[in-house]
Amino acid sequence: MKLYNTLTKKVEPFVPNQDIEVKMYTCGPTVYNYAHIGNLRTYIFEDVLEKSLNYLGYKVKRVMNITDVGHMESDDGSGEDKMIKGAKREGKSVFEIADFYTKAFLEDLTKLNIKKPDIIRKATDHIADYIEIIKVLLEKEYAYIANGNVYFDVTKMPDYYQLSGMNESDLIVGAREEVEEDKDKRHPFDFGLWFTKSKYANQILQWDSPWGKGYPGWHIECSAIAIKMLGDKLDIHCGGVDNIFPHHTNEIAQAEAYLGHKWCNYWLHGEHLNDLTGKMSKSKGEFLTLNLLQEKGYNPLVYRFFVLQSHYRRQLIFTYDSLNTATIAYNKLKSRISNLEINEDEELQTALINKYKEQFINCIEDDLNTANALTVLFNLLKDEELNNRSKLWLIDDFDKIFSLDLTKNKEEVDSDLIKYVEQKIAERKIARQKGDYELADKIRDELEEKKIILMDTNNTTKWRMEE
Ligand code: AMP
Ligand code: ZN
Repeated sequence: MKLYNTLTKKVEPFVPNQDIEVKMYTCGPTVYNYAHIGNLRTYIFEDVLEKSLNYLGYKVKRVMNITDVGHMESDDGSGEDKMIKGAKREGKSVFEIADFYTKAFLEDLTKLNIKKPDIIRKATDHIADYIEIIKVLLEKEYAYIANGNVYFDVTKMPDYYQLSGMNESDLIVGAREEVEEDKDKRHPFDFGLWFTKSKYANQILQWDSPWGKGYPGWHIECSAIAIKMLGDKLDIHCGGVDNIFPHHTNEIAQAEAYLGHKWCNYWLHGEHLNDLTGKMSKSKGEFLTLNLLQEKGYNPLVYRFFVLQSHYRRQLIFTYDSLNTATIAYNKLKSRISNLEINEDEELQTALINKYKEQFINCIEDDLNTANALTVLFNLLKDEELNNRSKLWLIDDFDKIFSLDLTKNKEEVDSDLIKYVEQKIAERKIARQKGDYELADKIRDELEEKKIILMDTNNTTKWRMEE
């Protein structure tokens, strides 16, 4: 297995610390709102990584956190706590918000066939662990107290800039716009480990600590949870590229200062999904959630398919046009597979199977090249020498990583689309009865864009997918 390591900026052979055991930590969501489909792209990439390692014979133990405290609007620690902002927005308590959006997040994972990480931990359940680490950091003088808050001193870590690959002055220029100067910090990149003097004195989430009643910074939670659940050596740590600086940079600094040795060998980052306006946002423009896609008739697995068609380290632009194209390709693929009938006398063709399996493994081992792995799938479907039994065997085998329900009943998988089209047909019927032909035509056009063709008969409307 070869993987691109952000730490070394190279594609490297993957060698775990302990034989075939892989300890993997993936940063989880901040549960103040729904995940947008960009966030979900990162979770799909991490799912593919975990399943690929398992497919190749490794044993992965994966941990994810749920951030329900401490993540400020800006990753440098300035701004308001996202959870409190979410609670105010909805007139609910932070606990209700956390509970609701954690459930919504887990539902999104299920819809996208993302395996739930083995261990999921809430940040608020680990306060004692943060306090323990912060105490040691103060003892070792990697941390200092200023105006009641505890900060990490980044100047004590000579390799602080390694992960980002940037130097101090470039990072300062890059960060300047967002940084709201905290006068208590000695260096602009020092970060809060524990806050007692927050700008928001009415911060609901507060705990006792040796430094006074307060709350933890965001960065400390991931390192502490990872160390607690996976021990003091980690094989893989993942997130989206926005996590490289400052979040993961700070995680490395505090974890290695605390442990006194190298912590994690491989840092993997998924590139962003953007929309046509640029950065995907939860507050500006259309808030693209998986639920929204479903309301518009898209199968969540089509979104997964769309994501797998590109490499995780490439930026991807989301448009409805490309999702429509993915829908057609996915439906064609599914119907080709559902037409594969096995003859009783067909036997598994081991030599051919091994050939395709080897090609598939080569793609996966090549830094998770899912796009090429899908090409192997399309090629085997066209292969006239390969019998249907062998084809189906291979498709099921590859689907352990793709997780696209390739051999599952088509109707079952398409139920969102069917519901959506039926709803639109009903809306169109009402519009026509009211004489609102403009709206009726608009609905027909909207469906046609998705390659759904309506056929009006005497008193009913039938539909079909354009080939
Ligand atoms: P958050 O809930 O903001 O902490 O983000 C959850 C995960 O989504 C993190 O791993 C981020 O790095 C990742 N992420 C944020 N924005 C995007 C995006 N536009 N595309 C892909 N991943 C993203
Ligand atoms: Zn994290």
